[in-house]
Amino acid sequence: MKLKRVDRRQFLARSGTAFLGLATGFLLVGCGGKGNQLNCTESLRKAEISMRESLNYVEYSPNSEKSCVQCAFYTGDTQGCGDCQIFSGPVNPEGVCDSWSKKA
Ligand code: SF4
Repeated sequence: MKLKRVDRRQFLARSGTAFLGLATGFLLVGCGGKGNQLNCTESLRKAEISMRESLNYVEYSPNSEKSCVQCAFYTGDTQGCGDCQIFSGPVNPEGVCDSWSKKA
């Protein structure tokens, strides 16, 4: 087997490309790849937060077939925070709570 000689410039170019690929991969994994990255609850009043806690609302549903955007009480689209007819204030289209009801 004959080894191919690589000069220093080629080595640096190849290792730089490999490093960028690895760094991009780590960044994508580090972001978690979870959902829409919205935070629809950051400006809520305490009473509204308590209401959500009592119904076990979470910003990201663990079940892809059971989320706010698929709920009968959700109004809004899939982009940005939407509204829920049960809660006041915004909800995440990928969220869910115990009052989830399948949209007809
Ligand atoms: S009732 Fe619950 S699951 Fe349905 S839209 Fe409101 S917060 Fe989401």
